[in-house]
Amino acid sequence: MSTPPAAAAKPAKPLTELTVTSREQLTPGMVRLRFSGDLASFATNTFTDRYVKLVFGDPAELERGGRPTLRTYTALDADVEAGTLAIDFVVHGAEGIAGPWAAAAQPGDTIVVRGPGGAYTPDPEADWHLLAGDEAAIPAIRQALAHLVEHAPHARGRVVLEVEGPDHEQPLPTPEHVEVTWLHRSDAATPGLADAVRALPWPEGRVQAFVHGEGEAVMRGVRPYLLAERRVPREDVSISAYWKKGRTEEAFREWKAAIAAEEGA
Ligand SMILES: Cc1cc2nc3c(=O)[nH]c(=O)nc-3n(C[C@H](O)[C@H](O)[C@H](O)COP(=O)(O)OP(=O)(O)OC[C@H]3O[C@@H](n4cnc5c(N)ncnc54)[C@H](O)[C@@H]3O)c2cc1C
Repeated sequence: MSTPPAAAAKPAKPLTELTVTSREQLTPGMVRLRFSGDLASFATNTFTDRYVKLVFGDPAELERGGRPTLRTYTALDADVEAGTLAIDFVVHGAEGIAGPWAAAAQPGDTIVVRGPGGAYTPDPEADWHLLAGDEAAIPAIRQALAHLVEHAPHARGRVVLEVEGPDHEQPLPTPEHVEVTWLHRSDAATPGLADAVRALPWPEGRVQAFVHGEGEAVMRGVRPYLLAERRVPREDVSISAYWKKGRTEEAFREWKAAIAAEEGA
């Protein structure tokens, strides 16, 4: 009897060096960096939530099986032929690594990224779309809306975005029947993300949902509402924590593992 071949090792995600070509202050809390590089590894990935992991530290460590500091960001407007893409960074103060790096980055600076990954594109066949999140999810939501404008201009949907205040809002491409609600964290009278999503009307038909942002709001607030109360099928929901208040990415990963363990229990 022959022994089955060992499972093929997962191919390592490609590493790409990007060079900053420009910076633009989008809002008081968000900066857009444009980059150039060889984007061959992006050619086959067209998800609207396509993301890369920025490598802070020695990328060679990844090849040795080590784990340098990584931070995840949505890759915007990737143009494989031109070799250009953009990343919109939330600048959230002096704490952390990627936020402060982006706040100080200048044309000519370089960074290695791993990826891309991604899993979601809005389905033009859905009866309506629910997109919700905070500043960190605006890039992915903007890209999803641009996809709908191009491929499903008659799509129906609701967008709920929580930002610090009115000057943190950003223009979004929206199909005619998609309504955007901005929530202002600085206004105590404004509901939080989960309450605002719960308060939305719930049209008949198949909904496809994309909800990402701060962990408590998304995973403990919106997620049980969609999956348990509204019984949206798991495959129609893209939902995850993009960051966690009071925790660096490393401590946040432990929190995510604890949530996954609670769910598996
Ligand atoms: C798939 C995916 C895509 C993402 N896309 C984007 C994107 O396009 N743009 C973007 O800005 N972020 C995005 N994020 C979120 C980003 O990865 C995290 O915010 C990350 O923690 C930032 O790293 P840091 O080194 O700046 O801060 P960390 O070292 O991780 O944290 C330092 C401190 O800053 C706080 N903090 C971290 N992020 C925020 C925030 N957004 N607002 C307020 N406080 C914060 C933490 O709670 C902690 O107290 C994405 C995350 C995922 C998983």
